[in-house]
This record gives sequence, structure tokens and C-alpha cells, in this order.
Amino acid sequence: MADTTSRGRLAGKVSIITGAARGIGRATCVAFAREGSAVVGVDLAARASGTTDFAQPDQDELEETGRLVKQAGGRWLSIRLDQRDLPALREAAQRVKREFGGIDVLFANAGIQAFKPLLEMEDADWHDQIDINLTGTANAIRAVAPHIVERGGGRIIVTSSTQGQHGTKYGSAYSASKWGIIGLMKSAALELGAHKITVNAVIPGLIDTPLTRHESRYAQAIEVSGKQPTGDEKKDEKTAAEARAKATPLGVPWIEPEDVAPVVVFLASDEARMVSGAAYDVTGGDSAHNVA
Ligand code: NAP
Repeated sequence: MADTTSRGRLAGKVSIITGAARGIGRATCVAFAREGSAVVGVDLAARASGTTDFAQPDQDELEETGRLVKQAGGRWLSIRLDQRDLPALREAAQRVKREFGGIDVLFANAGIQAFKPLLEMEDADWHDQIDINLTGTANAIRAVAPHIVERGGGRIIVTSSTQGQHGTKYGSAYSASKWGIIGLMKSAALELGAHKITVNAVIPGLIDTPLTRHESRYAQAIEVSGKQPTGDEKKDEKTAAEARAKATPLGVPWIEPEDVAPVVVFLASDEARMVSGAAYDVTGGDSAHNVA
């Protein structure tokens, strides 16, 4: 395949992307490769928590991302780890430095989502989402940022959610983790600006990935659209799609991960050098309902 690393908006960059096995992470890996970045795809690629009830990716899915990155002309390395494991992330960052010469960009994107009413919550229902989504994102920053400092500057982008902008019925752990990521992003932007590192968040709306496209997620999607699902509707994809399409200004039920990736590319690019501490929504227009 043609090597695109000498051209594009991310030409010559080395980027680490977590949650790379599929969804937003995979789409961003491919978009980064098209723009000339070498891509290190990090993922556990195994079930991260017993609290989730949708299918999890395996090593093959991570390697499929690698195939797509190489097809787009990018250099690729995959690393399997659990982002709760800070020493593993530090070791991964060292390896990337050894093999690629340094690190310019971190897209800390991996996460899980599960729903449980507060009154029924077990410890794992709270801790797994806080530990993976919030602490895991902080771990990625703590492990990788020193290398970006050493490089003389770069970019960090994290993935929050619209649920980091409002409460979520039966989704308090996820919502809290995603609000927390906004606080983490803004604090990191304050601290790392002196090192010429920008730190921003992407706020995806409802994206068409395995995290949302499964039966137990539909009731929540319908409710957020302002309709009370009844009986069978709670697990019905068509009802969820119709309710979502009606409620979203741009008329789409789900947004494709490929529509999130270009925003991450922009935030990773030199063009975004004066953008830091900010949150960028990709919500199909849902953001128009926000007060601020
Ligand atoms: P996805 O397809 O499930 O991708 C998430 C990836 O993260 C999976 O490959 C998953 O693999 C990996 N991951 C989970 N826990 C991990 C851990 N402890 N260590 C390493 N990797 C781990 O979901 P997605 O929709 O692309 O989600 C990406 C990010 O966007 C998440 O932070 C999510 O919260 C956020 N987001 C998604 C939506 C949406 O509507 N889809 C909306 C707003 C925000 P394993 O589970 O095998 O580890």
C-alpha cells in the first residue's frame, strides 16, 4: 500500500488511540492514517467488565483495524492492555517511543457503558465504569503525556459524551465518569499548556457502534427522545430509530463513527493549535437543545 506518512494534516505524527478495536476508535485510527499519522491502536479486546451485556471485540477485531490502517497507508502497531493498568500503559508508551521515536498525539477514547438504577447498584456497577472510563482516561494521559512533553508539544483528545453534560436515568456511573472526563480535560489543559500540549474533548451523540446498538440500550434512547417506551418497544430497534430521528435536528437516529473521526483529526492537527480546554459536540444537532 502507498505510504501516506509524508503527506496529510497529520503527516509525520505518531498517535496512540485507545479503544481502537472498533467503533469511534477504529474510525479515528483509519482517518488518522489517511492524514499521514502512524497509529498505535490500544485495546483490551476482551470483556472489560461483567456489568456490560453487549458483545465485546477480540484480537481479530483489533487486527482488522490494523488492516484498515495499513490499507490507508499508515504504519500500525497494536497493543492489548486494560487501561485500568497504569504500569501497562507506561510500558506501552515506552515501547512506542522506542519503536516510533516519540509520541505526538493521544486520543484517549476507550470506554464502556452499562445501566443500573442507583437503588439496585452493586459495587462493580459503579466502579467498573468509573475505573475504566474516568481513571482509565487519566491513566492514558499520565502514561503518555510525559512523552508528548519530551517531544516539545502535541495533542491530547479525550472522549466524553452528551451524558457528561446532563444526568442519565439509570446511568449515573457512566454519566459521572463522562462529567469527570470534562473536568480532567480542562485541568489537563491548564497544566499542559505550558508544554505546548492542547487538551480537548469530543462529545459524541448517539453513535452507531456496538456500545449503543443493542437491545438493552434502546429503552434509554427512546426515553431521551421524549417518549415513554412501553412493553416490547423497550427492546425495539425500529421504535428507537424512529424516536431518535424525530428528536434529532438533522433527522438521523444514529451518527456514524466516521462522522466523529474528522473532528478528532482537526483537534489533532496543527490547525487546532490555539484550541484547548474545549469540548466539541458531534450530535446530529442534539446540542441545539442544550442551554449553554
Ligand atoms: P465500542 O465500539 O464498544 O468501543 C470501545 C472500545 O473500548 C472497545 O473496543 C473496547 O474493547 C475498548 N475498551 C473498553 N474497556 C477497555 C479497557 N478497560 N481497556 C482497554 N480498552 C477498553 O464503543 P464506542 O461507541 O466506539 O465508544 C468509544 C468511546 O465513545 C467510549 O468512551 C464511549 O463511552 C464514548 N461514547 C460513545 C457514544 C456512542 O453513542 N456510541 C456516545 C458518547 C460517547 P473491550 O471492551 O474489549 O475492552
